[in-house]
Parts: sequence; C-alpha cells; structure tokens
Amino acid sequence: MDFALLHPADQIILIMERIYGYGMTTTSGGNLSILDDNGDIWITPASIDKGSLTRKDIVCVKPDGTIIGNHKPSSEYPFHRLVYKTRPDLKAVVHAHPPALVAFSIVRRIPDTRLLPNEGQICGEVGMAEYALPGSVLLGEKIAAVFAEGINTVMLENHGVVAGGANLFEAFKSFETLDFVARLEIKANRIGKPVLLAPEHFDTVEANREVRMDSFIPKGYSTLEREARREMIKFILRSYDQKLVMSTQGTFSQRLDGNNFVITPYGKDRKYLEERDLVRIENGRAEAGKAPSRSVHLHQAIYDAHPHVNSVIIAHPPNIMAFAVTDNAFDSRTIPESYILLRNTPKLPFDSVYSDVAKTAAVFKKETPIAIVENNCTIATGSSLLNAFDRLEVAEYSAKAIISTGCLGEIVKIDQEKIRDIEVAFQL
Ligand SMILES: [Zn+2]
Repeated sequence: MDFALLHPADQIILIMERIYGYGMTTTSGGNLSILDDNGDIWITPASIDKGSLTRKDIVCVKPDGTIIGNHKPSSEYPFHRLVYKTRPDLKAVVHAHPPALVAFSIVRRIPDTRLLPNEGQICGEVGMAEYALPGSVLLGEKIAAVFAEGINTVMLENHGVVAGGANLFEAFKSFETLDFVARLEIKANRIGKPVLLAPEHFDTVEANREVRMDSFIPKGYSTLEREARREMIKFILRSYDQKLVMSTQGTFSQRLDGNNFVITPYGKDRKYLEERDLVRIENGRAEAGKAPSRSVHLHQAIYDAHPHVNSVIIAHPPNIMAFAVTDNAFDSRTIPESYILLRNTPKLPFDSVYSDVAKTAAVFKKETPIAIVENNCTIATGSSLLNAFDRLEVAEYSAKAIISTGCLGEIVKIDQEKIRDIEVAFQL
C-alpha cells in the first residue's frame, strides 16, 4: 500500500484505527489532522466513536474557516491550526491520551528516549507544554510555543501528547515511539533502575547506520521463496498486532536454500508490509533496488554458523526489554514452557549487533536459542519461523509475568533437579 498517496480522510481513518486498536486512545480521546496542499485541514470529528470512524466522518476546515462535513471538527481543532501556523514544515498532527504517556504527564516527566539507540532519532527532542483547559486558545498557545522551538513531540501536563510530522505517518511514528519508550521505562522501573545509553553508544549506532552490500538482479522466485515470503508477512503482521514490534522496527528473516535467506526491508511500515517488500540475500548480496534491515550481517553470520537455525527475529518488545535496560537478569526457570523454549537467555553487550557479528552469532547454540542485548534488542532464533516467533512471544510473556510478581510476592524458581527432569522429558 502506498500510504502517502491516500486521500487525507483515508489516512486519518487508518491511523486512528491503529491508535485505537493498539490501546493508545479511548473512544472519546484523541484527534488527528492533516494540512493538505490547498491549505485545508482535515480533522477527526468531535464526539464521534473513534472505534468506528468512516471517511465520511472526517471534517474539512477551509482556510477561511468554512467547515465541510457531517460533523463539527474536534474540540481541539484550535491547537491543530495553531501548530500548522507556527510550523509551516509540519503537515500532520497526532494527539491522544495513551495510558503510559498520561502517567508521565501527571507526574510531569518526559520519557527518556536514551534507553534504546533509535528512539531519540525518531522522536527528536521531546518538550513539555504547561497545562491549560482543553479546547482553549491558551492550550493552543502553550503547545505552539513548544513547537516554535523546533520540537516535534510535545507532552502536555496532566493531559497527553501531541506529535507533529511532515506527514501523518511521521507524526504517528513519533507518537507510537514515545508511547513505547514510556511503557518500557515504567516496566523497567518496576524491576530495577533503568540505565541510559552514553554518547559513545550513539556514535557506534551512527557509524553503523549504513549497510554496505553488493546487489544482484533476481532471475525469478522459487515456490519455496514465495511460501517463505507469504509466511513471513503473516507473522510480521501478527507480531505487530501482538505488540512485539513497532511500525518500523523489528527484523525477521527466514533461510531459503544454503545460507541464502529472505529478510525484512529497512524502515518500511511493518503494518502494511507486502511479500514484494521483503529482500532476498543471496551469496552475501541483496536483491537490487531494496534496502535490507540494518542487522542483515548478523542474520547472515547466524545462518553461516548454525545449520540448525532457519529463522531469526530481532525485536524489542517492552517487557523483555525491561531486562535489557536494567541490570536485572532474566531467568527462564519460571514455568516449564519458558525454560523449554528459552533455556539460557544471556545478556550480550550493547554493540553485539554492530561489531564482530561472528562472535555474537557463535552464542546461538542449541541451549542458547535467544539472547538479550543490553539497551538494544532481543534476538530469537528458531528451527522455523514459527519456532523463532514462539520464542519471542514466550520471552515477552514470561518477562511480563516476572514483572507482575513485584506486587505479589517472592519468586520461586524451578529448582535444578526439576529442570533436569524437564531436560530429559523434552529431550533438550
Ligand atoms: Zn486531549
């Protein structure tokens, strides 16, 4: 799908569905707008169920203030208009009250994007606007004053967040990313003290931003590859719906023949990914005209080193990542399912995904199918895509269960003798 070519009303409907479906707004809270090339502002209506909006519900406000549509525009229209007036480079605004960001807004704190390497680049600097009455001119002025400083993502005291962007997807991405960081920081605080990345870590990320790889023109697509692509799209969409990945982060690959494989593209929206977007890597070269995910060399190193691995997923779901951003070790000896699928789950240093990928790949032996990378990601391997996906999902659920024990009582781990029984019974 070419999202950028859709009519503003259709773009707003799709993004509102995503925000509501992901649990980032209630039916009454939240409003989105787009400023089009005519100077018209397309915006969600006031007092209409956000869970069942159609394109006919979206209101168009002309530059002279004429309203076209079946409803009144959102009561927050004044601040949308003022943001566009203040920042002519912004063409879309997303506003909502997701619970994690509301939590930060009512303690008047800004989530720290330095917990992970890419989040700060997506959100930019994040500001805070002083409290003012919803719908008031004053609220608009407070918000616009922060946007005027060149900031695109603004927390609102005792209210929520506003994100602006050059288009609706960019604004949504900042909004989604800041909400993710807020959820991660809350979970991390439940189990320890979150550790932030230092400037030298960001230098490492910057130095590895470009993936250098020769390309080839494919002569055709085998039935095996078509099936692999179909299956990958199915699991990528499921991972998005299960909140295991975000719109542009989360890398999947699946082995074809030999050490060749298919991998997700860099930077493309996971929600609307299609079979043709995936990238074949053959003899160390990438399909021409496509950019593979930046961790492609690590995927290659894992396939080269381990014939038993047929799929690799790199993602950063918030519960398991709480262990990656604190010094709390993750132990899978909680329930048999967790131990069977996760076994040892070591924590690797931050730069493991960038430098000496052969050394990192060597970690993934049969008894170590999954690893957490400090302040970075979780790497899950599997004998199949389903197996790798299962591991990532079990890791996230197990982490969520462990975090939930905090207010319940002491954790009792399965002891070594019972672990051995599991190893024998399940031939681990
Ligand atoms: Zn609001």
